[in-house]
Amino acid sequence: MFGPIGGDGQRRLAEASVAIVGCGALGSAIAETLTRAGVGELHLVDRDYVEWSNLQRQQLFVESDAEQMLPKVEAARLRLLKIRSDLALHTHFEDLDASLIRNLASKCSLIMDATDNFETRLLINDAALEAGIPWIYGACVGSSGSVFPFVPDRSACFRCLLPTLPAVNDTCDTAGIIAPAVQMTAALQCAEALKWLSGNREALLTKIHHFDLWNGSRLDTGIARIRQTDCPSCGPEPSYPALARTNRSAYAALCGRDTVQVLPDRERPVSLDDAERMARRLGEPFRRTPHFVEFHALGARFILFMNGRLLIHGAASVEEGRSLHRKVFG
Ligand SMILES: [Zn+2]
Repeated sequence: MFGPIGGDGQRRLAEASVAIVGCGALGSAIAETLTRAGVGELHLVDRDYVEWSNLQRQQLFVESDAEQMLPKVEAARLRLLKIRSDLALHTHFEDLDASLIRNLASKCSLIMDATDNFETRLLINDAALEAGIPWIYGACVGSSGSVFPFVPDRSACFRCLLPTLPAVNDTCDTAGIIAPAVQMTAALQCAEALKWLSGNREALLTKIHHFDLWNGSRLDTGIARIRQTDCPSCGPEPSYPALARTNRSAYAALCGRDTVQVLPDRERPVSLDDAERMARRLGEPFRRTPHFVEFHALGARFILFMNGRLLIHGAASVEEGRSLHRKVFG
């Protein structure tokens, strides 16, 4: 009944396919709103499992999800299909890489940014530009947030803007966040999504919108003039550098969590059975579910997921994580 959307717009929503990258605080809120709005198909991407500390702001999850350490996309799937059983939902329990985002960009008409880092946003930016579809940036920390719809050929792209973005990447894990800042950011992103998907392109925001709920301030920043004429992502001869990067480091420290992530070695993947054998050999108590094996060794907590990703909790640096990994898995 909302005039600018109407019956035609609602039908367009039902035919739309949207990718949501990240299923934490923003991803939960966005997925729920788009599900209830009647978007036909959603693709959710996230590599993490539900932790107790997530429940403060990640609205799709409940205590039993944290108890069972369910993958976030799996917990989200159970909840979203209870909200709307005819939703076509596809979940991807993995790290976003170039091939996955390319694949999603070729199937979807919009990408929603619900990540917490610049590197992943550069991947989204390049894949969206290559496919000629928009993506909706959203970021929040503390009591503040920012939102902007990046539409190809309409404004500077995310890479053009990077020199003007803050060098320090504060995250919710290091600086905290209040849930209303999440909900406001997600609401603004979803409003942009509804405009685009329902065919109201002219209503899209033209400036980056920033807000701070604690002091009540708002700011809109125009970015048309920041466009770099020779930008390798949106310039006349794009090379999409983020999509070309394939040599990702296998080890990465997860910000603010004393945790090192080890990505699976494609040549020599480690299975849940391997991890269980390892834990038994070490004589350590372990826990196995259909999704992961968890065990303690050398003062750290190891969690191996079925997709081969390993988390080492209690490793303060990449070097320490690498050393623990080699000692336990050889
Ligand atoms: Zn650009």
